[in-house]
Amino acid sequence: MIPAPFEYERATSVAHALELMAQGGEDARLLAGGHSLLPLMRLRLARPTLLVDIGGLDDLKYVSGNGDAIEIGALTTHHEIADSHELGEACPLLTTTAAQIGDPQVRHRGTIGGSVAHADPASDLPTALLAMDAEFVIEAVGGSRSVAAADFFEGPFMSALGDGEILTSIRVPVSGASGVYRKFNRRAQDWAIVGVAALIGTDGGAISSAAIGLTNMGGTPLRAEAVEASLVGVSGADEVAAAAAQVADIGMPPGDEQASAEYRLHLASVLIRRAVGDVLT
Ligand SMILES: Cc1cc2nc3c(=O)[nH]c(=O)nc-3n(C[C@H](O)[C@H](O)[C@H](O)COP(=O)(O)OP(=O)(O)OC[C@H]3O[C@@H](n4cnc5c(N)ncnc54)[C@H](O)[C@@H]3O)c2cc1C
Repeated sequence: MIPAPFEYERATSVAHALELMAQGGEDARLLAGGHSLLPLMRLRLARPTLLVDIGGLDDLKYVSGNGDAIEIGALTTHHEIADSHELGEACPLLTTTAAQIGDPQVRHRGTIGGSVAHADPASDLPTALLAMDAEFVIEAVGGSRSVAAADFFEGPFMSALGDGEILTSIRVPVSGASGVYRKFNRRAQDWAIVGVAALIGTDGGAISSAAIGLTNMGGTPLRAEAVEASLVGVSGADEVAAAAAQVADIGMPPGDEQASAEYRLHLASVLIRRAVGDVLT
């Protein structure tokens, strides 16, 4: 289908984009990689009256670390994240997650900021960022603020971003823990039916810290807190499996044509077991 009519403006800076968004009002939308927004516009599920294209803002494309944390510009593409040596060393959970998004075309156009702002519960990077306790830096006309990932995602396609605000960067603490993202889908380039982000610290062969994020198990990315608590101190495969089964503690996930709620719970427990097993072996 053809999108509804809209105006188009190309922003030359973050300040210019904020100004254009303020002028456009509540029906203005930012355009980054366009790989979520344009399909919605073609289906007329989104009908912005003004598109503010921030895709040319090269100063929002970067990866920069100071040892304790890494900051990633919102326009950094999935491919650039997957390909980053610095991120691979400091935050392997992010690189392994980004490498599993869609296909090469999606990874070369889609951006981390667009993925976070879109807040699709089936998206991969938001789950990894939740497991890593990331912070999102948001610019508005009146100034900037920072929102923890745990407070950012409010429901399916709903977030703490207000009208006209721009997500400019993502800050990720560097923990030294090992990270693995395991995703189950029917075709290689599809969204996750269920995804699991595991960030696991070890000490003397046993798990000393665990953060487990879940994709597509609810209306937002979730943390499997009961699993996390049960994994600490564990070293053997049977104990990991017992801890993984506690994912049922999150309650019943949604069921749909891809998977029933019960099957999703089963998949999540298997993927947690495999992801943690990847770290321990
Ligand atoms: C065929 C296909 C397969 C895909 N497979 C996967 C997959 O397996 N896993 C996965 O996670 N994703 C997948 N995606 C989605 C892809 O990762 C998108 O690129 C991403 O979700 C959105 O990023 P974008 O830069 O394209 O954002 P856009 O489409 O440009 O924008 C998305 C939304 O975010 C807003 N926005 C964008 N940037 C900002 C910002 N900096 N500040 C505030 N608001 C902003 C826009 O206004 C819009 O509402 C797939 C997409 C396609 C088309």
